Amino acid sequence: MPELPEVETVKKALLKEVKNKEILSASIYWDNIIAYPTISEFKKQIQNQVIHDIKRRGKWLMFELDDYYLLSHLRMEGKYYIRKTDDPLEKHQHVIFHFSDKTDLRYHDTRKFGKMFLLKKDNVFKQKPLSELGLEPWDTSLTPSYLKQKFHKKPIKTELLDQSIIVGIGNIYADEILFLSKINPKTDASTLTNKECQKIINFTREVLEKAIEDGGTTVKSYESSEGVHGRFQNHLLVHTKQECPICHSKITKINVGGRGTYYCTKCQKER
Ligand SMILES: [Zn+2]
Repeated sequence: MPELPEVETVKKALLKEVKNKEILSASIYWDNIIAYPTISEFKKQIQNQVIHDIKRRGKWLMFELDDYYLLSHLRMEGKYYIRKTDDPLEKHQHVIFHFSDKTDLRYHDTRKFGKMFLLKKDNVFKQKPLSELGLEPWDTSLTPSYLKQKFHKKPIKTELLDQSIIVGIGNIYADEILFLSKINPKTDASTLTNKECQKIINFTREVLEKAIEDGGTTVKSYESSEGVHGRFQNHLLVHTKQECPICHSKITKINVGGRGTYYCTKCQKER
């Protein structure tokens, strides 16, 4: 599943391909991907819009058009391909943007969980879905007191995945951040000290920065964009690992809030 570093990687790779291209029309083969507006409005509004930039907020890609932002969430398996307009439609290509230069941007999603919104530019951050997001990892407002105010009485692993608190952390990076912070994933987040919250903030930034540098993590079949292979999987310390790189104990895998969670029982002691 793409997390912040993978979305950042897709953003950079895609921008090189689509910057300043004009969208002539869109073909939609799986209606549920378009969350807003209606299919007919979406098709009408996107005509003749030029892609000026691609931004990112949390795990959302934001294509900046003349009058709108096209928001795209890749969810589990979404990715973008560039094709010629004449190229045959391939399996799992559900939304296609046809450019004036006879190339296409094609959204491919084997599981069809991805979502797109086309929203007027003004106040885009104050509307759903962006209005529901928490802080970016590098936001200076992200402090231990912010976290203490936001954390619920739930396992810290679950809270790190909650996009209304900090955005962009998914299952892989949450395990890495907690391992480096030496905090057990089952720890009740509402009991964490200021010092522990500060460690989480520091390691969140460190892990995500390193992963962005490495072009994200390529696991199983997921590549963030066609031909883009991240390298961060080579630096994972605990997620999917067998042995702790610090104390050499066997890594334990448990389920926390429905998510497979890897940790070291010795380095990340239970309270
Ligand atoms: Zn250990």
